[in-house]
Amino acid sequence: MNMSDPILINVTEEIVRGLVSFLLRGPEYQTFCKCEICELDAVALTLNALPSKYVTSMESRDEAFKMMNTPENIERINKEIIHALHVVSKHPRHKAEPTSI
Ligand SMILES: [Zn+2]
Repeated sequence: MNMSDPILINVTEEIVRGLVSFLLRGPEYQTFCKCEICELDAVALTLNALPSKYVTSMESRDEAFKMMNTPENIERINKEIIHALHVVSKHPRHKAEPTSI
């Protein structure tokens, strides 16, 4: 992809997806369901609680990413993710636990 090709990215989404996937692979969430439904529900819940940050070029994406990738902001986002993971684990959209790896 060319640096100047038009795109539409929510940088908040990119960061949240990365953090959720990182947290779910860590030791603290070993018992959390690893299925795609639960992971995406956690991402969606988190994103509904945070302001979106849309950009339309890779340059502005990199700029926005740098601006947002501060310890305070990541901590704020992690707080929302932890809340979302709690909600999803209490109310998973599927009945049984289909995947525990
Ligand atoms: Zn699940």
